[in-house]
Amino acid sequence: MICSALPVLRVTSARRLSRLAIVGFVAVLLALSGFAFWSTQTTSASARRAVAASELSDHYQQAVSSMFQEQLWKQNDLLKPAAGSKVRYDAAADALVSAMLLVAHDGGAADQAITSRVLALHDAQVRSVHQLFAALDRHDTATVNRILTGRLEPGFVAVSKILTDSADAHRDQSRRALVELRKRIYFTARVRPAVFAVGLALMLVLALVLQRVRRQLYRQREEAVRDSLHDPLTGLANRALLAERFDEALRRSDGEDSRTGLLLLDLDRFKEINDTLGHHYGDQLLTQIGPRVESILRPEDTIARLGGDEFAVLLPEVAGLDGAMLVAEKIRYALTAPFTVERLDLAVEASIGVVVSGEHGDDASTLLQHADIAMYVAKKQNIGIFPYDPDADGHTPQRLTLLSDLRRALERHELVLHYQPKMTLSTGDVCGVEALVRWQHPQQGLLSPDQFIPLAEHTGLIGPLTDYVLDAALTDIRIWADRGLHVPVAVNLSTRNLLDPELARKVAELLRKHALPAKMLELEVTESALMTEPVRARETLMRLHDLGIGVAIDDFGVGYSNLSQLRALPVTELKIDRSFVTTMDTDTGNAHIVKGVIDLSHNLGITTIAEGVETEATMAALRIAGCDIVQGYYVAPPMRAAELTTWLGSYRGRSRSSASTIVYA
Ligand code: C2E
Ligand code: CA
Ligand code: CA
Repeated sequence: MICSALPVLRVTSARRLSRLAIVGFVAVLLALSGFAFWSTQTTSASARRAVAASELSDHYQQAVSSMFQEQLWKQNDLLKPAAGSKVRYDAAADALVSAMLLVAHDGGAADQAITSRVLALHDAQVRSVHQLFAALDRHDTATVNRILTGRLEPGFVAVSKILTDSADAHRDQSRRALVELRKRIYFTARVRPAVFAVGLALMLVLALVLQRVRRQLYRQREEAVRDSLHDPLTGLANRALLAERFDEALRRSDGEDSRTGLLLLDLDRFKEINDTLGHHYGDQLLTQIGPRVESILRPEDTIARLGGDEFAVLLPEVAGLDGAMLVAEKIRYALTAPFTVERLDLAVEASIGVVVSGEHGDDASTLLQHADIAMYVAKKQNIGIFPYDPDADGHTPQRLTLLSDLRRALERHELVLHYQPKMTLSTGDVCGVEALVRWQHPQQGLLSPDQFIPLAEHTGLIGPLTDYVLDAALTDIRIWADRGLHVPVAVNLSTRNLLDPELARKVAELLRKHALPAKMLELEVTESALMTEPVRARETLMRLHDLGIGVAIDDFGVGYSNLSQLRALPVTELKIDRSFVTTMDTDTGNAHIVKGVIDLSHNLGITTIAEGVETEATMAALRIAGCDIVQGYYVAPPMRAAELTTWLGSYRGRSRSSASTIVYA
């Protein structure tokens, strides 16, 4: 049970790992696309820079060549004036302006400044050249010379310097950009495959991790499904899987000649082994039952553990009742050879109840219930195997009738509670009562719990019965409380109640229904109930403890458990079994046991109750031993609620203490 927490942990870590792998996947994909984006961006930016620099250099170059054209046509006109030269000069001048405008358009702020300067200088130049042409036309040689040497030569030198410098600078820039571009292309060409290879490798690793995690999760899911259908101790099918297979077998055999058989098996000496040798031996023995029984079954048959030492064998196809009886005989025979547990040979026997579909019922729950009764009869009559037979009056004990009566008794409220007071030894106060159920049977009179509780425990009726007792006890506590009487009541639980995961919820609901605090209720459980399935029992006890309900260990001493085992449980009281108490004033061995239990439980902070106190001598011995609370015929026998009310009234008068725990308003 404790181990079942581990797969949950493993599942969560596997889930976390798979989530991490997916995140890793996305991260690698993002990194790869980021790298691809970055490398194309930087390469195209370098290319753009190279193209722009080369274009600018071209524009400057164009301007330089236009300027030389201007120069050429100007010289031409000087040598041999002609209208054509002037027109061509103007065309070259326009070409220079256009080239510079392109420079300004494509270039940066520096180029725009250069353009402004060049255009200003050029404008002056053009104007001077036009004046030169005019002077030439007038044959005004003096003006021609002045313009040529004074303005045109220096202007030409200045403009051509600016333009050639800029053209050179941009050519250099373009060359550098080209070199950078080449480097980038070289780099990305080298690095890109490596990056993609690493990325792919990472993705591959992540894919493998993911696949493994998926497989692990799948396996864990399979395991969880398996666990939910199998008994953790023996690995055999559990009640749920049996029910599933039972339904399926019944569906299949429906309308056909074949029958489905069910054997219910309860080990006879198991409790003894558990009690004398310990839980560990009991568990080991239980794990050996399945393989032994399986060895004589067919592959399609199912053996399931229903809890404790109870097993069921499902025979999906069986040759009627005779066939099922034969299998039961074989199983009983197979179990006769002793089981070896840690070099000890242990002998167990089994009582087997047998039912077959059609003959003993048509649905799984009826058949299971009938098998339960049949097994009960087999056990009680010590006959080993018993086929369910409600009509065979020779075999059917009175108890079988009792069972159907008991169901009705719950509905008709035939069960009554008697209450037995518990007295604090040091003060003589009554500190509470124990509820003990009786059945007011219409024909058989008042039946003691021993006559019907085991039957209820064996047939699943114990659940409703305990609910009934709890409700009735809380109803009485409420009535007493309304009269100003504070009477805490202890209610007895059976093993099956303790294994019911709903118990604590039901108790809490009942307390709410009767508007009572948890401290008004105490629950008594026996050692064997705790040790049948300790983990589940402990879970229930913890839940009850969390509600604030006290738990007493009943009949303490007859089981094998020791006090240190109880330390781990939220136990508030320990009731020393009456077999030790009743005889302690005559049997010194028992007196020592009682004294030892009292001392040890006091060390653990647990209150002790001695039950079955029948004499003044026993009471005196218990007082000397330091026992806290006594219960027994000597104090008072169990009595009906109304009688108890009267008894409490008269007891108050007798009580030595003025402040009785049972408070009167
Ligand atoms: P128990 O829990 O050990 O209850 C004490 C039994 O001892 C009661 O028997 C009580 O009548 C009897 N007793 C009380 N004082 C003395 C005494 O001085 N000497 C002797 N020899 N016996 C004394 P009862 O009422 O017959 O109950 C028998 C058992 O039935 C109880 O044993 C308890 O295990 C079970 N039982 C009773 N009521 C319930 C119930 O509501 N639910 C369950 N699951 N079991 C119950
Ligand atoms: Ca009890
Ligand atoms: Ca008891």
